[in-house]
Amino acid sequence: MHNKNKIIISIIIFIILIFFFIRISSPKEIDDVHPEILCSEKYIEKSDVLWVIPIFNNTPISSNKKWCNDILSLNKSIGMHGVYHNFEEFNTDINQEYLNQGIMIFERCFGFKPEKFKSPQLKISKQNKKLIKENKMELKERVNQVIHKVYHCNDDGLFKNQIIDFF
Ligand SMILES: [Zn+2]
Repeated sequence: MHNKNKIIISIIIFIILIFFFIRISSPKEIDDVHPEILCSEKYIEKSDVLWVIPIFNNTPISSNKKWCNDILSLNKSIGMHGVYHNFEEFNTDINQEYLNQGIMIFERCFGFKPEKFKSPQLKISKQNKKLIKENKMELKERVNQVIHKVYHCNDDGLFKNQIIDFF
């Protein structure tokens, strides 16, 4: 093999290894948590951060108190993941009133306001980014998704949970 190619391949392997170790050592997350989305307990248990959808299929999480308490009792970090989780919901500009629906339902369920936010499909407009910051929520974006292992409740992520588990 040409020497230059050897160097390039070594660098690529090195970067993959670095990612592997960063992902293995960082807290795990799970997206799309909602009482109406079937979720594998195994992956909820493995995760440190639960990304909860406040209203899904027009069902607010706060209408299921038992579920709220069950999630709370897991003692994990909980973040808000969209409001309704429509496709690319936060790619078009929303207003404070719209965001408030999610915050209110979240608070009614868990007893505290969300402190971190992840948008559906990780898509978010400039204006919405500003709005999230004004609401004192930490925005998690693509970098977060790459340096953490992120499972999906219904296993419909770009990569299957089993693959995420491995890499
Ligand atoms: Zn999602």
